[in-house]
Amino acid sequence: MTSNAAPESLTNLTVRLASRPQGEPTVANFALDVEPVEEPGPDQVLLRTIYLSLDPYMRGRMSDAESYAVPVPVGGVMEGGTVCQVVASRSDMHEVGDIVLAHTGWQQYAVASDKAVRRIDPARGPISTALGVLGMPGFTAYAGLLVIGDPQPTETVVVAAAAGPVGSAVGQIAQIKGARAVGIAGGPEKVAYVKDELGFEVALDHRSPDFVDELAEATPEGIDVYFENVGGKVFEAVLPRMNEFGRIPVCGLVSQYNATGLPEGPNLAPALMNRILVRSLTVRGFIQREFVKAHYRQFQQDMGEWLSAGTVRYKEDVVQGLENAPEAFLGMLQGANFGKLVVQVGADPTKP
Ligand code: NDP
Repeated sequence: MTSNAAPESLTNLTVRLASRPQGEPTVANFALDVEPVEEPGPDQVLLRTIYLSLDPYMRGRMSDAESYAVPVPVGGVMEGGTVCQVVASRSDMHEVGDIVLAHTGWQQYAVASDKAVRRIDPARGPISTALGVLGMPGFTAYAGLLVIGDPQPTETVVVAAAAGPVGSAVGQIAQIKGARAVGIAGGPEKVAYVKDELGFEVALDHRSPDFVDELAEATPEGIDVYFENVGGKVFEAVLPRMNEFGRIPVCGLVSQYNATGLPEGPNLAPALMNRILVRSLTVRGFIQREFVKAHYRQFQQDMGEWLSAGTVRYKEDVVQGLENAPEAFLGMLQGANFGKLVVQVGADPTKP
């Protein structure tokens, strides 16, 4: 293989958005396609995808409803973070063989600007963690919790999707800061993992018929920080238990991503506003990128140290083969993933 051109024999498997879902997406909303691999131009690299990250935000990109980011066009390659290997380079910044973090989406190969990718040091840990605990989800937890949640020793921090990459980091960082973490997850296996392996003080199952009572029992002193990942019934159970001056970093609302409209029933906005007023709550939405400039470097240092010391643990759910990405993604929206969901698209050269 030459260093600056794509071998002619390569083909590129892609997953494209075939149509916009109405409500819950299905595999029919995705289309697999095989096409020729492009040649890199000046200051560009050709990348081979090793791992593709699957994240809840991708449901938003499938929709053309108003959002903080532009949607994937119908017919476009699905968006996503990737860990790749440089297979051809016309750049002074990256050599063939380099492992890089990129945002090249659901495809086997992609041409990218050399400035749009960042080299990963495989000595820091498994390269897939650049998509999880050492990457965007870990940083989301770190910045959202520490900047907005600001947990204090002995305070109670509650987080749902607690077995996933964001929630698991939120609870563990909260405990490092001396707070008590209450994790909420779906099903006994995830609940046991959150309590026994991640070391949260309490773990609860949001599917339990007694969830509201169990949450009250687990938070006898009320809740000081609720890191909002899911919305819906969990939020409704948490809100009445928020303490005065409580903080709610609003990170995600995964229980509502497939909603096509507002739920039936009374308008709860006045009751919500009343609770925010009488308890002097801070409710602050955020998208992690707003904190990158000020906090990413410190995150990398802190998280690196916590991982080395074993004070933060993580779990990955690795699905083999790009063709299985749509099904794995749909499963994640229902809680079928157990840990950070990544697709292994190609061979990992750092593994024997
Ligand atoms: P996860 O891997 O944890 O996957 C989502 C999880 O949500 C599922 O596994 C499931 O866990 C839970 N879930 C799904 N439906 C429901 C429901 N109806 N009620 C309660 N829980 C449900 O995801 P991430 O850790 O990657 O992301 C967590 C949240 O953070 C998401 O809302 C995501 O959109 C958000 N996010 C926001 C960012 C930002 O910048 N604001 C950046 C990154 C993520 P279980 O089976 O345990 O219920």
